Amino acid sequence: MDSSKKQYSKIISLHFASDVVRRPMMYNLAKHFDLTFNILKARISPREEGHMILELSGKEDDYKKGISYLQEHGISIQDVARSISRDDESCTHCGMCTALCLARALCIEQETRTILFDANKCNACGMCTRICPVGAMHTEANGDF
Ligand code: SF4
Ligand code: SF4
Repeated sequence: MDSSKKQYSKIISLHFASDVVRRPMMYNLAKHFDLTFNILKARISPREEGHMILELSGKEDDYKKGISYLQEHGISIQDVARSISRDDESCTHCGMCTALCLARALCIEQETRTILFDANKCNACGMCTRICPVGAMHTEANGDF
């Protein structure tokens, strides 16, 4: 597959000046670069600098253009490590996530027919968090805020 067509998803931390707050930057990311975003944390004041942690997803090519667009507007960007956890109380062991987990961090234990989660194998791609019908898989951004 052409690498520019690959789906890409990253958690990033944005720092920006107060004048940027009033501009529709997020709207433009979706409209002009076909990117989707999920704001995980935000602290914005009209009189202060803003700081936001968000997950940005789209085709790799569009992702890079979107990042350049933000940087051209004076927004500083840093990658944020993330980790995935499972709420064992919520998991119904339906198995839907196992088909998506290429790292095999989620797999079925044949004897008990339960789904096991091995955090050591997880590469934090985030696919399971989008498919889980009960929201048992969680993303946590490990960044200063
Ligand atoms: S999709 Fe969600 S509920 Fe189903 S096995 Fe995976 S974590 Fe559990
Ligand atoms: S985040 Fe990705 S690698 Fe980790 S458990 Fe979910 S699907 Fe598997």
